[in-house]
Amino acid sequence: MSATATRVLVLNSGSSSVKYQLLDMGAEPDGGSATGTRLAVGLVERIGEESSRLVHTPLAAGGETRETEGAMADHEAALKAVAAELAADGLGLDSPELAAIGHRVVHGGLKFTAPTVIDDAVLAEIERLVPVAPLHNPANITGIRTARALRPDLPQVAVFDTAFHTTMPEHAARYAIDVATADAHRIRRYGFHGTSHAYVSRKTAELLGKDPSEVNVIVLHLGNGASASAVAGGRCVDTSMGLTPLEGLVMGTRSGDIDPAVTFHLKRVAGMSTDEIDALLNKKSGLVGLCGDNDMREIRRRIDEGDERARLAFDIYIHRLKKYIGAYSAVLGKVDAVAFTAGVGENAAPVREAAVAGLEEMGLAVDATLNAVRSGEPRLISPDYARVAVAVVPTDEELEIAQQTYALVNA
Ligand code: ADP
Repeated sequence: MSATATRVLVLNSGSSSVKYQLLDMGAEPDGGSATGTRLAVGLVERIGEESSRLVHTPLAAGGETRETEGAMADHEAALKAVAAELAADGLGLDSPELAAIGHRVVHGGLKFTAPTVIDDAVLAEIERLVPVAPLHNPANITGIRTARALRPDLPQVAVFDTAFHTTMPEHAARYAIDVATADAHRIRRYGFHGTSHAYVSRKTAELLGKDPSEVNVIVLHLGNGASASAVAGGRCVDTSMGLTPLEGLVMGTRSGDIDPAVTFHLKRVAGMSTDEIDALLNKKSGLVGLCGDNDMREIRRRIDEGDERARLAFDIYIHRLKKYIGAYSAVLGKVDAVAFTAGVGENAAPVREAAVAGLEEMGLAVDATLNAVRSGEPRLISPDYARVAVAVVPTDEELEIAQQTYALVNA
């Protein structure tokens, strides 16, 4: 790697989309640590359709967003279009300043406990995990293959959503099912959103002026997908998502926790197929299943108008959240902070207020004035007297991927 190579391209490849960010990880002029400057951000969607769309914003070059529409047959066409946009801004993939490409990979199983430089063996192992992540890993693999073909000489790093959770003890990671069956099919709780839980738990410690090893944090990542984690001294000891991202909290379109016998019932009594049940629980449940909307802004607007279905959906969402705060307080024993993050966690003050309401005996409280502040910065929203800090900590998964990638290629 060239001494001047300080840029990292972060790729998040979905089945029909690619999100990307180009960051400069160069050290601060005063010699401080790399904080990452965004040079360009963008998104390609509807890959494989006639109406593929690329939205590109060259932040370094003035910030004018450009949109391109037109068929992009596959990920290769999409990445080539992204490369052309970056090149037009003088940020091309052939630049000697590009140090590495960091790929978000959803499932790393038990083997990948840290970011990993991708070679053929690593790619084969990610492919071996497709049966446990059939919706996610294939798209990630396509993104990796395409990027490697474009720049075969460049280090490419896989950063796994599951890695942060590999520290979970066996008693938290195992389901109480027949061990031989579980092991034969690699059924256990892996957890997801790990890059976000890692970043937010570390930032929360920073906000408290402590080292991550000194604090216990409950992280509530509430986006369209949602998960909670219990982080003790910087290590994850429990998380709410399981074999797949379906378990745990009520989400935008996913049910979260459910009696597994509901699925037998849907099969035997309602006559639904496995695929139909999968779609019901992953895409037509959660907030959208309960009230028809999965956007918390719309749900709050409806509640303000007196809509009972929206109210009930909100109450079910909050009830589950509270149960996890209680459960993880018990798992951790001592809690220093509860951190809210992602779209809902960062923006929906009523969710934060309701999730903590009535938990004063557990040392938790929210100050109404602080909770109402809108800001992109990490901040405390608990009153001074509260024993447990309640914080809003904006997540930044791309920056975390870039930092981990850059650190690895410079190691
Ligand atoms: P994803 O899981 O897709 O990455 P995000 O973390 O971006 O999701 O969160 C998206 C969700 O955040 C939206 O579905 C919406 O419910 C919620 N959200 C975004 N902005 C606001 C806001 N201002 N107020 C309340 N909720 C919001």
